Amino acid sequence: MIRFEQVSFRYADTAAPALQGVDIEVPEGELCLVVGPSGVGKSTLLGAVSGLVPHFTGGHLTGRVTVAGRDTRTHRPRELADVVGTVGQDPLSHFVTDTVEDELAYGMESLGVAPETMRRRVEETLDLLGLAELRDRPIATLSGGQQQRVAIGSVLTVHPKVLVLDEPTSALDPGAAEEVLAVLQRLVHDLGTTVLLAEHRLERVVQYADQVVLLPSPGAPPVIGAPADIMAV
Ligand code: ADP
Ligand code: ADP
Repeated sequence: MIRFEQVSFRYADTAAPALQGVDIEVPEGELCLVVGPSGVGKSTLLGAVSGLVPHFTGGHLTGRVTVAGRDTRTHRPRELADVVGTVGQDPLSHFVTDTVEDELAYGMESLGVAPETMRRRVEETLDLLGLAELRDRPIATLSGGQQQRVAIGSVLTVHPKVLVLDEPTSALDPGAAEEVLAVLQRLVHDLGTTVLLAEHRLERVVQYADQVVLLPSPGAPPVIGAPADIMAV
């Protein structure tokens, strides 16, 4: 579902590559954890999947990144929006509307989904993420964990095959983080969504992963393996 083939990337005007020698294959319906300390290239790697890298960042990418068979260098991020949903660290920066319900509908509106389908998918997503009772609430009044679930919901309504999340739990307390990770696990198991999740700490999320991509240091090729193998590194 997600494939990196001999990918290297260098930001413009930088001496060292941000990614080098990256070969990854994430099968459909698996959760892949990208882990490593700050600055090793996790966001860059995720950006290459959503197409932000290199379309919005500039710089030079070699090799090939494909998502559901689409080359992310030759497709603009907009042309990937129906297959890849992206959620960042700070849910507030993600939101464009006031209420939970409006936010869930927004992504579909911009893709021109029919009103009837939109209504059905909003209901389905409210239920799936346990947000039905919060539907009319202004997003600003929700807890961090609730906000992050709304951010995930807002991209899920598009029914993306791939969900990319850049440290979605790092601003959350442990309870809220668990809440978000439980949702991700349900998406993988119940809907077959493929999840690419970046975290700087291994412990909290490793139990949810099918595959771990460890970026040991900036520009170094990743170490890839099953969670148990990576824990032993
Ligand atoms: P991580 O997500 O693991 O913290 P990043 O992918 O954000 O790592 O960054 C990897 C490296 O690329 C870092 O050295 C960072 O400073 C550099 N970098 C990130 N974004 C840019 C940019 N837009 N221009 C130049 N260098 C960048
Ligand atoms: P429509 O695609 O017309 O909105 P449904 O909402 O009934 O129809 O969903 C069709 C199928 O997609 C159902 O089998 C449902 O389980 C599945 N589905 C629901 N939510 C998602 C999702 N977020 N990603 C992928 N498939 C989903």
